Amino acid sequence: LLSLEGATVRFGGRPVLDAVDLDVAEHEIVCVLGPSGSGKSTLLRAVAGLQSLDAGRVVLDGRDQTGVPAHKRGVGLMFQDHQLFPQRDVGGNVAFGLRTRGESKGQQVARVRELLDLVGLPGAHGRAVASLSGGEQQRVALARALAPRPRLLMLDEPLGQLDRSLRERLVVELRELFGELGTTVLAVTHDQGEAFALADRVVVMRDGRIAQSGTPLEVWQHPVDEFVARFLGFDN
Ligand code: ATP
Ligand code: MG
Repeated sequence: LLSLEGATVRFGGRPVLDAVDLDVAEHEIVCVLGPSGSGKSTLLRAVAGLQSLDAGRVVLDGRDQTGVPAHKRGVGLMFQDHQLFPQRDVGGNVAFGLRTRGESKGQQVARVRELLDLVGLPGAHGRAVASLSGGEQQRVALARALAPRPRLLMLDEPLGQLDRSLRERLVVELRELFGELGTTVLAVTHDQGEAFALADRVVVMRDGRIAQSGTPLEVWQHPVDEFVARFLGFDN
């Protein structure tokens, strides 16, 4: 479904994505792990069309996306910092991505309720965004990203601000949901536990490159080098 081929992004001459090759198969759930500043968000933004490449290309469904604007790529992106629309209520935020799909008002309302239930915010529909806690806003952003059922959904720290018990519950529910919908997912997380519970495959980034890619078990049992081992929390 998705291929990055030699994808390179430089800021001030410094490569933040350094000739990254990555394939994501249809229905696959891939989690990107890596230290702060390793290029994870830049990778997602490049795939979404919000960051242009200095070299290489992004290919979706066999089509080179160079020059294709973000709204025509058919991918969903949930930002690290939510970016909810403050002037819309919760329901308006979640429904935002549905308007372009030609669904009736009734279908939209039902879908919004279903999504708010899923993220653990039943009845939050009419609430003002500003009245929500950070974690609640994050869940609204997640519901908004899920709403249009994009074929490729990219999530940047989707559960980062949530407490552990909620995270653990949501990870299980999300994995089920992605399976049911057949959604392909590329998600960034800091939390290894989350990555290992959610992902079919884990990609560990270091300084704009992919240090290791494999199933959670492979990466856990056989880290390729000391960097990956340390990052996973093995001390030696
Ligand atoms: P985090 O885990 O903290 O979110 P990340 O892996 O998502 O980190 P990126 O946001 O992809 O990291 O950033 C990678 C590097 O590129 C960082 O050093 C960052 O400062 C730099 N960077 C990102 N965007 C820009 C920009 N627009 N201009 C200059 N430098 C940038
Ligand atoms: Mg980031």
